[in-house]
Amino acid sequence: MQKDQLLTRRRMLLAGAAVLGAAGAAGAVLAGGDEGTAPPTAAPGPQARRAPKSSAFRLQPLTGDGPPRAAPRGLKVRTEPILRISGRGRHMMLTFDDGPSPEYTPHILDTLAKYDVRAMFFLCGECVVQNRELVARMAEEGHVVGNHTWTHPLLTSLKRGEIRDEMVSTSDAIEDTYGERPQWFRAPYGAWNRAAFQLGAAMGMEPMAWTLDTTDWTTPGTSTIVDRVESGAAPGVVVLSHDAGGDRSQTVRAIREWLPHLLDSGYHLTVPRRRV
Ligand SMILES: [Zn+2]
Repeated sequence: MQKDQLLTRRRMLLAGAAVLGAAGAAGAVLAGGDEGTAPPTAAPGPQARRAPKSSAFRLQPLTGDGPPRAAPRGLKVRTEPILRISGRGRHMMLTFDDGPSPEYTPHILDTLAKYDVRAMFFLCGECVVQNRELVARMAEEGHVVGNHTWTHPLLTSLKRGEIRDEMVSTSDAIEDTYGERPQWFRAPYGAWNRAAFQLGAAMGMEPMAWTLDTTDWTTPGTSTIVDRVESGAAPGVVVLSHDAGGDRSQTVRAIREWLPHLLDSGYHLTVPRRRV
């Protein structure tokens, strides 16, 4: 990636950044979309400007004088992960775990691109280094990536040093391929422990869980996945799907159905913003 391209993308990331939900409900993060989700404490300037659509990445000014990129810094140590996004309006957030995978991730990216939607991908380091081009594509297309450990272990069965190794190596691999260290962490299986919260905070990553599990990992059938998303859709919902870790063909087919339906229902699909 050319340096100027990287700089432009960083500006995009900065432009899409806002303030975590200190003013919002516990366990929620402010949505990165429109409709006045920036709280009064948000930094003034381009970041606080309302965009006409949910695509904060594309529609925020790219050339504004954003704050300088901050070095990773410690965050408040949470005791529970963030479960949903807050903010007015019909915002939802899509998340995809365990990838990237060459079989399924490109199809999901194609569908997201077709509808001009940004999502979060929680990546495993061992998949990142095998599929660097897909991580680069996520960066180019404005998606946000998070750290989902290197080997997807059950963190509650590991020693603190082992958890740290899983997290640090994955953030390193993401930085190499995506161009930024991740600012979000998701524990495999949703199995959080104190060490994971502490290490994540020290690495500048907020813990992100989900509201709605599509249970696509049980391969219940495409129509069942579609029904689960559409019946569970509500403002603030964070949707969990998987683009790797097994046969995800149902996931790929399902999103082609439920994504346009959510958009037709007036939902804005957004990615989180946070302070930098
Ligand atoms: Zn996972």
